[in-house]
Amino acid sequence: QCPWGAPNTTSISCSLADVMSEQLAKELQLEEENAAFPEVVAVAEGPFITGENIDTSSDLMLAQMLQMEFDREYDAQLRREEKKINGDSKVSISFENYRKVHPYDSDSSEDEVDWQDTRHDPYRADKPTTTPRRGFIGKGKDITTKHDEVVCGRKNTARMENFAPEFQVGDGIGMDLKLSNQVFNALKQHAYSEERRSARLHEKKEHSTAEKAVDPKTRLLLYKMVNAGMLETITGCISTGKESVVFHAYGGESATEDKVIPSECAIKVFKTTLNEFKNRDKYIKDDYRFKDRFSKLNPRKIIRMWAEKEMHNLTRMQNAGIPCPQVVILKKHVLVMSFIGKDQVPAPKLKDVTLSSEDMKKAYYQTLNMMQQLYKECNLIHADLSEYNMLWHDGKVWLIDVSQSVEPTHPHGLEFLFRDCRNVSQFFQKGGVSEALNERELFNAVSGLNITADNEVDFQAEIEALEKMNEDHVQSHGKKLSTFSSDGDPPIDDE
Ligand code: ADP
Ligand code: MN
Repeated sequence: QCPWGAPNTTSISCSLADVMSEQLAKELQLEEENAAFPEVVAVAEGPFITGENIDTSSDLMLAQMLQMEFDREYDAQLRREEKKINGDSKVSISFENYRKVHPYDSDSSEDEVDWQDTRHDPYRADKPTTTPRRGFIGKGKDITTKHDEVVCGRKNTARMENFAPEFQVGDGIGMDLKLSNQVFNALKQHAYSEERRSARLHEKKEHSTAEKAVDPKTRLLLYKMVNAGMLETITGCISTGKESVVFHAYGGESATEDKVIPSECAIKVFKTTLNEFKNRDKYIKDDYRFKDRFSKLNPRKIIRMWAEKEMHNLTRMQNAGIPCPQVVILKKHVLVMSFIGKDQVPAPKLKDVTLSSEDMKKAYYQTLNMMQQLYKECNLIHADLSEYNMLWHDGKVWLIDVSQSVEPTHPHGLEFLFRDCRNVSQFFQKGGVSEALNERELFNAVSGLNITADNEVDFQAEIEALEKMNEDHVQSHGKKLSTFSSDGDPPIDDE
């Protein structure tokens, strides 16, 4: 049970003089220590310690991470001791107050409650009645001064409200709690020091100009994944885009989840700087799946929703058997998925790879098939499909980057589909695939719609007319029309 393993019990016979020799004692101890902790030959690389990332700006974070690791071990030991002492006894002693891992950092912060959700708290204690300036109220023998024990006690209890919201003072509502000044002051002291401690750990946002840097909160989140054994190492950055940063990581052996973690993972971190996401409003605002939630959300939550959307969409695609990254886990704005590629080298984008004409043709037919599957089986339109978001790996095309994908009944869904078709059609026609359908034919082949216009302008006008028809139907019936799904299957709902 002891995490350090059994001690070496080799008895050495020696004279009393030797025992008294401090020198010898030291040597023996050194020897023992060397045996117990042999020098690590290859120092394992921690998260983010790779060639180009060596800078001192993350020292604070590293220190905090180390502290966190230490605290966890300390707490684990504490729990073991607690268990040992308590045994089966009905009355148990709690070591809770001696724990190091701060409640602020526990995973309960996962579901942070928004400020606006808690503003109207029906359980708020009544405002304490104030004592007027002169220091006493009442008359004659009913006089009570501000030093009155009962009044003071109640007042102290009410003042606990001013402690940081995370500071747990217990539920004393309706109990007429009276705290003595001494107890109150001790509590106040404690509350303040806890607040400071938490503030230290949750440093203010880093205003880093370096594009590759993720903010400290994200780094901590990633480190937690490594710490939990979900990831082995985060090796480096694969891509920095306007809206996301993608890292490569080696998967670990998760202790908690029963899922098998892929040996190589891609971590997509959605950027928490808001400006980039403004122009994406149109994708999500009109997506009926997110309609109810959009209006009430704060910007930080909207970014998490992109990550959530990518996860749901990838899951749908996975279920339909479309080659795409497999979702491992979603934590806030960080999505971990399987890595498409090998030995840290990501699969090339279709735009970067030179394919034989045979492979090009194969890639085209596969893409056509995937677009149909995506539409019919997943009830999705990619909405950013091009040679930039298709990877060539294992002799086939893999679809990625689906956070902006929408359902066909999205008010602009068909327009997005037409744009996708144009990109795909142009890419394969330029790539020499003579069989490749033109964008209008491809649109009809994917959607099952039969738009007959023979020029782009009329075609687009018809698309918009269809979208408008659907919108009008939504307006008058309060729900979406299933016109666009040709086979009438109900949409897959994974929410
Ligand atoms: P963005 O919104 O920034 O375009 P993407 O999801 O397209 O985000 O990812 C950016 C790049 O990262 C991709 O072009 C691809 O090269 C790489 N990438 C993303 N996900 C994976 C993955 N699962 N496996 C391998 N490479 C990936
Ligand atoms: Mn992309």
